[in-house]
Amino acid sequence: MTFATLGLIEPLLRALETLGYQTPTPVQAQAIPAVLAGRDLMAAAQTGTGKTAGFAVPLLQLLTMEGPKVAPNSARALILCPTRELAEQVHASVAEYAQNLPLTTYAVYGGVSINPQMMKLRKGVDILVATPGRLIDLFRQNALKLNQLQTLVLDEADRMLDLGFSEELANIYRMLPKKRQTLLFSATFSDDIRQLAGQMLNDPLSIEVSPRNVAANTVKQWIVPVDKKRKPELFVHLMRKGHWKQVLVFAKTRNGVDALVDKLQGLGVNADGIHGDKPQATRQRALDRFKSSDVQILVATDVAARGLDIEDLPLVVNFDLPIVAEDYIHRIGRTGRAGNTGEAISLVCADEVNMLSAIEMLTRQTLARHMEQDFEPEHRVPETDASGQVVKKPKKPKKPKASGGGGKRNLGKWVDSGEVAPAEPSIKPVRKVPVFNTGPRKKK
Ligand code: AMP
Repeated sequence: MTFATLGLIEPLLRALETLGYQTPTPVQAQAIPAVLAGRDLMAAAQTGTGKTAGFAVPLLQLLTMEGPKVAPNSARALILCPTRELAEQVHASVAEYAQNLPLTTYAVYGGVSINPQMMKLRKGVDILVATPGRLIDLFRQNALKLNQLQTLVLDEADRMLDLGFSEELANIYRMLPKKRQTLLFSATFSDDIRQLAGQMLNDPLSIEVSPRNVAANTVKQWIVPVDKKRKPELFVHLMRKGHWKQVLVFAKTRNGVDALVDKLQGLGVNADGIHGDKPQATRQRALDRFKSSDVQILVATDVAARGLDIEDLPLVVNFDLPIVAEDYIHRIGRTGRAGNTGEAISLVCADEVNMLSAIEMLTRQTLARHMEQDFEPEHRVPETDASGQVVKKPKKPKKPKASGGGGKRNLGKWVDSGEVAPAEPSIKPVRKVPVFNTGPRKKK
């Protein structure tokens, strides 16, 4: 199959050729004709498999072929993204695909001055990429009208529809014309989100090009059990032993990011961090420098988990496991993209066993364990598997106390210190979904 057989127009074919895209990826092969036919879509495909072009390319064609010119302070298509960095990246891709077309594109997001964005919107833009908060601000300040909108895309749709964004999304929905095309794209969709999404779409086509909720099979995954307090030491040990060159590291908290960056910089390692407390310009600069290999180790919170496309990134390390199992798939999906291979290593301590179990259950795999010599944990990480069971090994029977022995015996690594949460047979691995009324949709 070629892009030409999907019915794309010549300026788009030329742009794709310039970018070196020879054949459509599976998600593109299914999504492009469906979007061109005006269908609503719910599309699930693994990380790094070309979803952006899957929605952006046919959208550009629709906008070129039909519809009136964009009015001042208006947009004809809106792509919503959960993070500023992703909005910037998606816009860069859209602009590349649009290079031979007479269309305008632009990205708006928070953390930077709103005035230049208001100026830019004056003439209207055909495709607007946005994060929800800034979009609402611009709308409220009358810098943007959405009555001309014909297509809405939610990139990383499950994240956009979960609780964190529910209020903003409900507000945006009220601003949009009822008659429109809606496209949802993500690597993961929980059942709850699927149900909610189903209510928002009009006779949607569901595209699923890979088994549900799995990471790209180009990523080799394994875990190293370790005690929590020894994680920084283990990280440095593995980094030196493996001669790591370019690594994206995920930590749970902003403080955790800062602490690891400080430690690494203190050792003379070229490391930087991104998280929500940093100014946007600093965040983007750190990401750009990492993408261009000027920074060797980038430590981030989940702000960097979704969608970011870093060419040939060989390794992702989960310094901490994510609280929400789906985020594991997104995090490790920063490597092994576009058919490349990659590796994902997770440092797991005993109190993360339930998160580990939830990840294994969601991804239907038992992660290989590698015990690193001299880092064997005092607090054992109980065995887990894809069934969601946490297997507690029976403790070794206690020997009767030798009379007069006194003192504590060293029970070694098999002793659980009480840090380990009790095993739960079924751990809900998904985010909570909002209960907001998406309202009945008028038939197109
Ligand atoms: P995405 O999942 O949209 O972030 O895309 C992942 C990576 O694959 C990006 O670097 C794209 O430029 C690249 N890509 C997308 N579609 C194709 C294609 N059909 N052929 C080659 N590379 C592609």
